[in-house]
Amino acid sequence: MRAELIMVGTELLLGEIVDTNGPFMARHLADLGIDVYFKSTVGDNLSRLQEVLKKAFGRSDLILISGGLGPTEDDLTREAVSLAAGCPLREDPEVIRWIENRFVERYGSLTAMSPQNRKQALFPAGSEIIPNPVGTAPGFWLEKAGRIVVALPGVARELEAMFRETILPKLRTVAGEEALVIRNLHFAGIGESSLAELLADLVSAQTNPTIALYASGGTVRVRLAAKTAQRAKAWDLIAPLEAEIKRRAGAYFYGVDEQSLEEVVAKGFLERGLTLALAESCTGGLIAHRITNIPGSSDFFLRGYVVYTNQAKIDDLGVRPATLAAFTAYSAEVAREMAEGVRKRAQTDFGLAVTGIAGPGGGTPDKPVGLAYIALASAENTTVQKHFWRGTREQVKERLATAALQLLWRTLSGLQAD
Ligand code: ATP
Ligand code: MG
Repeated sequence: MRAELIMVGTELLLGEIVDTNGPFMARHLADLGIDVYFKSTVGDNLSRLQEVLKKAFGRSDLILISGGLGPTEDDLTREAVSLAAGCPLREDPEVIRWIENRFVERYGSLTAMSPQNRKQALFPAGSEIIPNPVGTAPGFWLEKAGRIVVALPGVARELEAMFRETILPKLRTVAGEEALVIRNLHFAGIGESSLAELLADLVSAQTNPTIALYASGGTVRVRLAAKTAQRAKAWDLIAPLEAEIKRRAGAYFYGVDEQSLEEVVAKGFLERGLTLALAESCTGGLIAHRITNIPGSSDFFLRGYVVYTNQAKIDDLGVRPATLAAFTAYSAEVAREMAEGVRKRAQTDFGLAVTGIAGPGGGTPDKPVGLAYIALASAENTTVQKHFWRGTREQVKERLATAALQLLWRTLSGLQAD
């Protein structure tokens, strides 16, 4: 089944709002194994909307429209579908009664109701009316000449509720058992191209499941997508491929689907009964933020310092002024003293420290913007890593936080859980 999305609204074309309804519907359609081949955005204009609809009728089995169902003059979806499908508009008596009741409830009489309000009770002949549990405008489902046209209001909360409650169950019966099942595998500590090399023959031989690599913020995601006639069978296709990928790149694998690096780190600490303290300079609390996004993190993350100045590093962590004077704050020596200092002050199993130059200013030829150090201190030893990234201030902070979480994760995975 070929589907097509049409987003209606001049606001979308002006960049005043960003389309979220399209991606919402697209994700659900993919999940049902329905292929989406086109998505168009069109303004509140009758002839252009008709033009897009005519094209859609010529090439798609399922057409989903978002927006333009309200009572005002620029809400033109019902007229455009009526014209493009050749189904005259009919007033639905039940919807009229329902709209009247709402006016009576709200204003005590029908005097406030204008002819415009009656517009929301008009539907192309042959439509099935889709109830709106959270707003006024109902949507419709029209089947004509082997095509299905679905129109839903633009307000995201309404579209999503109607899609979940009525459209999805109806689409399930139309789409049958066919499904696209997606599995995401997450990797850290390896670049996209190195991982692609490890998986090269699998990637070039891909048919079903398909394999795609995506890098972002210092981690790499491998997406496996299997298409099957029966949903339950998809895992038979994914499982052997997933096992093979883990066999080759297991050392860098940290989680699946929605799992984040911080979640895996938190699990590692909790399972082993270990504790952590943080000393953050250039990440300004970002690592603490990511760790505290995980429920239950107070059981292992005991203390975090944002030590942005040299004085803070001296006062709060016991970094020696002489070390700062000799090596600057952007050095392995200072990172080490920060990690050891925070561990000692907080009395934790691990002390993690980061320091670096996020930019855009402050760089020098031997200490350029993007230079960063991570130190991890335990009772046994202190590990120090040097990194260098190109990017904006925010990107450097993000990469540094991710690299610090990676160091924690790799250190924990090297330890025995008891
Ligand atoms: P209304 O009855 O509110 O007029 P409508 O069905 O006519 O509903 P629109 O007028 O097109 O819908 O849009 C109403 C509001 O819904 C917009 O102002 C915007 O906030 C939101 N909206 C519209 N289209 C989208 C979209 N594609 N993604 C997210 N939000 C949207
Ligand atoms: Mg509107």
